Amino acid sequence: MVNGKKMLNLCSNNYLGLANDVRLKDAAIEAVKKWGAGLGAVRTIAGTQTIHLDLEKKLARFKETEDVVILQSGFNANLAVIPALVGDGDVIFSDELNHASIIDGCRLSGARIVRYPHCDTGALEKLVVEWKEKSGQGRHALIITDGVFSMDGDIAPIDQLAAVSEKYGVALMVDDAHGEGVLGHHGRGVVNHFGMEGKVDIEVGTLSKAFGVVGGFIAGPSELCTWLRQRARPFLFSTGLSTADVGAAIESVRILESSDELVKKLWDNSRYFQEKLKGYGYNLGKTQTPITPIMVGNEMKAKELSFKLIEKGIFIQAIVFPTVPRGKARLRAMISASHTKEDLTFAAHTLKDIGSELGLL
Ligand code: PMP
Repeated sequence: MVNGKKMLNLCSNNYLGLANDVRLKDAAIEAVKKWGAGLGAVRTIAGTQTIHLDLEKKLARFKETEDVVILQSGFNANLAVIPALVGDGDVIFSDELNHASIIDGCRLSGARIVRYPHCDTGALEKLVVEWKEKSGQGRHALIITDGVFSMDGDIAPIDQLAAVSEKYGVALMVDDAHGEGVLGHHGRGVVNHFGMEGKVDIEVGTLSKAFGVVGGFIAGPSELCTWLRQRARPFLFSTGLSTADVGAAIESVRILESSDELVKKLWDNSRYFQEKLKGYGYNLGKTQTPITPIMVGNEMKAKELSFKLIEKGIFIQAIVFPTVPRGKARLRAMISASHTKEDLTFAAHTLKDIGSELGLL
């Protein structure tokens, strides 16, 4: 409901519909009853409850990594891990379309930031070679990419990035915020999707999207996680994830491990909606995931389309400059397992009618 009007929500990251799942709500309530509402201290002083360790263990099992460190958000996970690994004199190779939290983590680290053209592993390799020859001796280097790019829905070429990482001995980090719960076996994420387990050194995740809660995490070898528990500043100096969130997240992991029904429904819904829109003549850019960019181009037209949809009870936010480059305005529809076929048919038909009215089709 928005201002008393019933709306179909097509712009939430609640990919699996877990945010409102009664099992998660009950788990959150039970966790608060058992462990209290607040922690009273940072994780390293007195703020680690058994439930935190339990979630870290279960997430590591789900992600098939040795260990996991949980943080207060995905944003904080990037601020925690990057400066803990590289610093002054080191280098980061960062995809030009990486998320804002990666950009901020990179800046905070003090390392030199070299942006490479989006998903262009050939160009990346040349930059790595150049750095190796000029100043690479004895310094640390890190390649960082989003797993799924949130504005376009395209998937990073993890296999090719892992090959560059291996060939030149440069560590590889993937932020899989939009891949977890979406890609791979039972939603294990982009690394599993490519079968690249053990080839990606650091995985960053969020509990706020498909997992339906809030929080972030870093998954990887136990040596990395032990290091982060000693060095990552948001872990050391900010109170940890609340018990309600931890309890609910444990339940999400349990649900995903036990069934892939929701992941399958998400993909089924996405295919259905995207095929309908393409059939009507909409350009969905280069999406390979449930993220559905409906390319409009002109900023005012995108806003108009969004407003007209809202009048009809459909909420799809327009994404305009500066979030995306000028002239690349779009509506970004986010598909969820909680949508019914009727919801998606209604949205697609309405988009067709309004798109024709505005001369977009
Ligand atoms: N990384 C990426 C790629 C994201 O899309 C987001 C969320 N927009 C984040 C990190 C931040 O996650 P959180 O909302 O958990 O802070």
